[in-house]
Amino acid sequence: MSAVEELRSGALTAEENVARYLEAIEARDREINAFIEVNLRAIEDAQAVDKKIERGTAGKLAGLAIAVKSNINVRGLRATCASKTLENYVSPYDATVIERIRREDGVIIGMTNMDEFACGSSGETSYFGPTQNPAAMGRIPGGSSSGSAAAIAANFADVALGSDTGGSIRNPASHCGVVGIKPTYGLVPRYGLIDLAMSLDQIGPLAKDVYSAALLLEVIAGYNPKEATTLRVESVDYTSKLNADLSGYTIGFAREFEEYTSPEIIREVKHALAKLEAQGASVVEVELPNLAKALPTYYLTVFVEFFSATRRYDGRRYGYRIEEVCGEEVLRRIMLGRYISQKEYSGKYYKKALQFRSLIKKELLEALSGVDLIAGPTTPKLPHRLGEEIDPLAMYAYDLLTVPANLAGIPAGVIKSGEVKGIPVGLQLQAKPLDEQKILNAMYALEGG
Ligand code: GLN
Repeated sequence: MSAVEELRSGALTAEENVARYLEAIEARDREINAFIEVNLRAIEDAQAVDKKIERGTAGKLAGLAIAVKSNINVRGLRATCASKTLENYVSPYDATVIERIRREDGVIIGMTNMDEFACGSSGETSYFGPTQNPAAMGRIPGGSSSGSAAAIAANFADVALGSDTGGSIRNPASHCGVVGIKPTYGLVPRYGLIDLAMSLDQIGPLAKDVYSAALLLEVIAGYNPKEATTLRVESVDYTSKLNADLSGYTIGFAREFEEYTSPEIIREVKHALAKLEAQGASVVEVELPNLAKALPTYYLTVFVEFFSATRRYDGRRYGYRIEEVCGEEVLRRIMLGRYISQKEYSGKYYKKALQFRSLIKKELLEALSGVDLIAGPTTPKLPHRLGEEIDPLAMYAYDLLTVPANLAGIPAGVIKSGEVKGIPVGLQLQAKPLDEQKILNAMYALEGG
């Protein structure tokens, strides 16, 4: 039985559920380093939920333990962004997604480790030290939502929140063998998320199974009148519509995926495609000739937007001036972002990036117009060993297959499709804007099949 079922049947109380995770964290998180801070009030919060369960007034997430990435504001806990810059920043308010989680009686179990300011693909740039991959010890868990994915893989929480600017939910979901979803841009409110690049960032769920990912997503999704960039989607109900029958689904696979991905990963992806066919889907070829242009386009955009986002950390409000205390990857991005912004009067880089962004979006939407989903790999290579030195460009290359979805604003989900040498490999499913249900259904089919 899953925790959701146990809690709903009354076989488990919220307090028992939270207590068992706290014990697991206590016993093993020294080794994994998934959490930066544990919520000391989690037991009290769970007891309050139990009272509501007794009264029959508890919400959809009643008693589920939820881990939160440290770039999301949770009142009373630290949103450090895993940086010395915000080492002592205690959130004075709840992000909109947290308000919605509390309204449905989820219990926040703690704040997770991450790449500093979400800049990274490995979980190694945190000021609080790297996170282990519980599914492949000794390897990176992926990033930047490293702690959230690791918390799920290590069984420290029921579900987790991550953020995805260029792959930060999907990449660690793939390496850690868990479910992860980057929603359509604007589906989930960003209010209370500390920006990496605001035109790309989305908050989304990480979970052990498709049902609980769908459940968390339907709780956090929907229009927020306080935010200009949220879409006018009032309420969604993914869980009751989960359906593993894929008859009528057409799924595209791009030849270009094979060009950039190691053959052992492609082999696992093709196994997953065969399973989707067995559930009724038909697989066809699609073309993404400009796939590789997405990576430089993405990084140029991120450097500029991140540079601008960091100007508020000037030492007056938050204690430290970011340039004085941050790690080398964050500093590199600030310097490059400053340089590109200064050169912008000539329209040399950023304007070009915007043009390429439209091209990539157009190409992806065109490819999607003839199919329900595009299925392919998540990362081009397997996760490297923790501590192995890799240069920045090799680190950026992890994002080649995930950044197009952010540039186009479309939803994308990842689910484990197999293993290579004992290391999980995730299948990535991309869909048209607001077609999260199709992604969830295909993942549901894979989970059962
Ligand atoms: N790895 C990408 C980067 O470093 C993605 C980060 C993210 O999605 N937050 O920018």
